[in-house]
Amino acid sequence: TEIIRHLIKHHIFASINQVVDYEQAALVARDLGFEPTPQVISPTSASLQRGALPTSAVLEAARDDKDTVPIPPVVTIMGHVDHGKTTLLDMIRKTRVAAEEAGGITQHIGAYQVEVKGKKITFLDTPGHEAFTAMRARGAQVTHIAVIVVAADDGVMPQTREAIDHARAANVPIIIAINKIDKPTANPELVKQQLAEIGVIVEDYGGDTVCVPISARTGAGIDELLEMILLVAEMQDLRANPNRPAVGVVIEAKLEKNTGPMATILVQEGTLKMGDHIVVGPLAGKVRAMFNDRGKRIQKAPPSTPVSILGLPEVPQPGDRLEVVPDERTAKQRAAEIAEQRRAESSLPGHVSLDTLYMQMQEGKTKELNIVLKCDVQGTVEAIKNALLKLGEEKIKLHLIHEGVGNITETDVHLAAASGAIIIGFNVKADNAALRQAQKEGVEIRYYDVIYQLIEDIEAALKGLLEPTY
Ligand code: GDP
Repeated sequence: TEIIRHLIKHHIFASINQVVDYEQAALVARDLGFEPTPQVISPTSASLQRGALPTSAVLEAARDDKDTVPIPPVVTIMGHVDHGKTTLLDMIRKTRVAAEEAGGITQHIGAYQVEVKGKKITFLDTPGHEAFTAMRARGAQVTHIAVIVVAADDGVMPQTREAIDHARAANVPIIIAINKIDKPTANPELVKQQLAEIGVIVEDYGGDTVCVPISARTGAGIDELLEMILLVAEMQDLRANPNRPAVGVVIEAKLEKNTGPMATILVQEGTLKMGDHIVVGPLAGKVRAMFNDRGKRIQKAPPSTPVSILGLPEVPQPGDRLEVVPDERTAKQRAAEIAEQRRAESSLPGHVSLDTLYMQMQEGKTKELNIVLKCDVQGTVEAIKNALLKLGEEKIKLHLIHEGVGNITETDVHLAAASGAIIIGFNVKADNAALRQAQKEGVEIRYYDVIYQLIEDIEAALKGLLEPTY
């Protein structure tokens, strides 16, 4: 109970038998006065050798379990608007639906699965980092690989950088797809240079980021892209145990006129079966019908399969967790517990703020300050960034997880919430949706129009001398 209470304090709604990831476990360990160190469990995996930690809870759980099998990677496509995310998702779906199923009506359920050389890949069908980070802010990380689409005629743009920062903050490996190479104005080399400038070094340039030139319109390069996805997935050694009660996440949900609440679940662990008693967020239900991404009725869904299900009393929210329980009574009891946890959480203050930073540092609760920085012009971003980085002290690491030009948006707030960051706005405002979300998630937003004042405040906060603001 005590551990669950600490998790709630950090906005993680865990149940008694839930697997949490390293970062989440470490937060609680620190709360309780321990200093955790990550332990690499499978030294054979290439991604681990490179020093990366397993990214998802599924992965961590899987490693100790002898029953695990390799699972299809779950891929999100992100990038700047109009760079071709939707076209790419459509093209992959169109060309990769198995022949006997072609002609069958594809159902838009928020995710789909394709087969490449006998191996499956699951694509989340809502492109963009907004959905990705909104889910993460709710404690759900479903993506194993992020494909960042960059149009070869337009180059790296603000949302390209944003998408890369969001993927990095989530510790998800990135594959670059340089799109629109069919265009006469395409300049893939320039894109690679621009990427290098923001620290993404592609393999041709001696780095380790996989980069594939493609045309989402003509289909050129898409086979290579899919193969690269499988390769990166293989290096991650993604596994899960299909023989346990299923755990999954809601990807999408809606109220259907004839059938009632319908939810798309991405199964992460175990196998979801017809008739299973389930808890989805604060709702108790039973799987009464289950359909795959082609609208076909199915009886069971192994890990990484997207399925839409019927049998919930209400429409759940994307990011809600699904859990299979032994019987109806347990389902109702768990659902009530989660509803109660949510009520308790909504009255908790946010977890990071400059005012309380010093206290948290003293108590050993905070070792770094994550910052999302939004400015009116790029020049100011650089100036503030340099000034901030100089401030980094031994006691605490300042970590700029995202910087950008423009007003503060809901997506910035989601990123801050998911990463325990504060937001600094310099000569910019927050839009209404962002303000509402910040209040809901307890994310601190601070506004400045003079650089030295901003720096002074952070310095003061680090020393515990900041005047509280009301
Ligand atoms: P999104 O906003 O990233 O989802 O971008 P869309 O997929 O909607 O694409 C934006 C525009 O670029 C559309 O008019 C597409 O037809 C076009 N487009 C996408 N991919 C390609 C490509 O590979 N080549 C060319 N020439 N146009 C493309």
